[in-house]
Amino acid sequence: MPEVFVGLGANLGEPAVQLRGAVQALAALPHTEVKKVSTFYRSSAIGPAGQPDYCNAVAQLDTAMAPEPLLDALLAIEDAASRVRGERWGARLLDLDLLLYGQMVCSTARLTLPHPELAFRDFVLWPLIEIAPEVQVPLLGRARDLLDKLPTPALSEWI
Ligand code: ADP
Ligand code: MG
Repeated sequence: MPEVFVGLGANLGEPAVQLRGAVQALAALPHTEVKKVSTFYRSSAIGPAGQPDYCNAVAQLDTAMAPEPLLDALLAIEDAASRVRGERWGARLLDLDLLLYGQMVCSTARLTLPHPELAFRDFVLWPLIEIAPEVQVPLLGRARDLLDKLPTPALSEWI
């Protein structure tokens, strides 16, 4: 089975509670097992100023779901968490991104793999490397090397 990684983020409500709920929802997907979950981290919001901090984590799945149905399932979990679909990079109750689906590369109207922002986001790369130190990002190389190219991450544990 391919190594599948999902990025989780929230900065409204009770972010850590929403992330824990999302992990449970992932575990309840058909033919899917949650293999690993990273530490929950606190990061400063990007985008519009004055937003609360984000809680971010990465989960590794074992799944027989194909990428598009899996994306649909992630969006359904977001909707169930009553995510407010507002401005891009605006505050949100829950954001689930399909980061990596094995070494698959694709770019359709609905799904881009690997996730297009992965290489630029320390709050994704750091928890990803925590649970998969040697993971390779298709076309781009080792996640660890991508993180090394960014400024030192300013992440702390959520607590
Ligand atoms: P972002 O996560 O970039 O802040 P959104 O969560 O609002 O923005 O974007 C959701 C849309 O991005 C979805 O409707 C989905 O079709 C599209 N998308 C494309 N590739 C991916 C991916 N790898 N993971 C999650 N969503 C993706
Ligand atoms: Mg998203």
